[in-house]
Amino acid sequence: MHGSQLMTYAMKRYTKKLSPLIWLLPLGIIALLFGYNSIQEVPKIEEVPREQLMDYLLEGNERFAEDHPLHPDQTLDRLRELNRGQHPVAAVVSCSDSRVPPELIFDQGLGDLFVIRNAGNIVGDYEIGSLEYAIEVLEVPLIIILGHTNCGAIGAFVDQDHDHSHVYSEYIQKIIDFIDAEEEEKALPRDIPNFFEKAVEANVLHGVHTIKKTIPNVDSLIQQKKLRIVGAVYDLETGKVNILKED
Ligand SMILES: [Zn+2]
Repeated sequence: MHGSQLMTYAMKRYTKKLSPLIWLLPLGIIALLFGYNSIQEVPKIEEVPREQLMDYLLEGNERFAEDHPLHPDQTLDRLRELNRGQHPVAAVVSCSDSRVPPELIFDQGLGDLFVIRNAGNIVGDYEIGSLEYAIEVLEVPLIIILGHTNCGAIGAFVDQDHDHSHVYSEYIQKIIDFIDAEEEEKALPRDIPNFFEKAVEANVLHGVHTIKKTIPNVDSLIQQKKLRIVGAVYDLETGKVNILKED
């Protein structure tokens, strides 16, 4: 075989052998860089200092709202690890609305959040009992009362405020009456154009105030910086959680 022919043959083999690697190399580098960044930027939630927890959850919400969630700790391995006990870092009271799942909107996983849900994210006796458990037994350092835009329960309250003719079944009416009796709702001027939006916020603030008034030691835990209570509203349009008021 002629020398140049041999060379061409060798080059062909070489190219053939390398071509899949050449195609995969940039992809591999991108994957490694992204993987490396994820590991670098997102510490385990239990390693986050207490005072930075809310910011950490808001970062998770930003990932969700920007459409690149990481879905951390949602594996069977994680569940088995948690079978020995749970140590959630926050308690969240949110609406039952199917568009408001706290683990998804904060991009967290199994064992991270202690969640209480009902239509209208109201804080009544049973919710207070669950929160007492979260504070006293699980020692969560953060409570979030999370309302949301276009909430059906608040919408029913707003509608009824304008027009009493609609008849709801007994237990739905109890939810509406509960919201109607909240002093924060009573204090709202009725003629404002964004009454619905403000009614969502007032209901959240009622939850925050109720926890402070009702659960023993909450004030002293807040003063000692062992507990933080945050009111927030989640926007169904943007996917973002906006903080209303803290402590
Ligand atoms: Zn709702």
